[in-house]
Amino acid sequence: MLKYNDTIAVAVSGGKDSVSLLHILARTENKFPKASLSAITIDEGIKGYRDEAMRIASDNCRKLGIRHETVSFRELYGYTLDEIVKKQERTEHRTETACAICGVLRRRALNIAGRRVGASKIATAHTLDDETQTILLNIFHGDIIRTAREKPVTDKADDDLIQKIKPFCLIPEEETALYAYVKKTKFQSIACPYASDALRNDIRLILNRLEKKRPGTKFTIYKSIEKVRPSLEMAEKKKRVARCVICGEPTSERTCRVCQILQKIRT
Ligand code: SF4
Repeated sequence: MLKYNDTIAVAVSGGKDSVSLLHILARTENKFPKASLSAITIDEGIKGYRDEAMRIASDNCRKLGIRHETVSFRELYGYTLDEIVKKQERTEHRTETACAICGVLRRRALNIAGRRVGASKIATAHTLDDETQTILLNIFHGDIIRTAREKPVTDKADDDLIQKIKPFCLIPEEETALYAYVKKTKFQSIACPYASDALRNDIRLILNRLEKKRPGTKFTIYKSIEKVRPSLEMAEKKKRVARCVICGEPTSERTCRVCQILQKIRT
């Protein structure tokens, strides 16, 4: 996943997974003089939730002596996530959950923050739990081919798109939590107020119940997909990366998903 001279940006939300990843990569990076590490945090603008996480993320970075870059939805898009959700509720277009919107806007924001710190790779703290949830989500949404793109090291599809890596993709969430407790690191433990609406939350409950009864289930699901991923990649129709006609960011469509969302809430 990493080269000896990578410029790594760790996506730190302030939760146990990302804080553990930050501490582990900081220790690893110390052994490689040509590598460098910084942290990036996205402030989606979720009242009563993200404010505390931002403080925790920046405390951890200060303690480790790591550069910390923050980017907010308001700065990039003109609205906080709370405002976007409220605006959407008032229109007839309430077709997407807060998490679906948040995911699209955060992916773009992470890429922009990564470019600001000159990153060659963005490391995210997706655990085995996140990965298996995403696999099942794609199946539930009838879009299994999408799994081809969501691999542990993403393709470098465009100069303006930073490669993403997932060093924790085989690590169960329980273990990242254990690491954070053992190391006595500060992390945010309250859940996002929008999380319970998402289908991901239902899938998390199902998977946890199955894992408890039949240990190894999550690992087996992940490994099964790894086996068929080459076929999924062949089945995926690779689209040419162009530039959005509105914002100029890389996209495979004429208008990128971010601008489509913003257009909808402005009408
Ligand atoms: S739970 Fe949903 S809305 Fe909250 S931060 Fe995560 S993706 Fe965004």
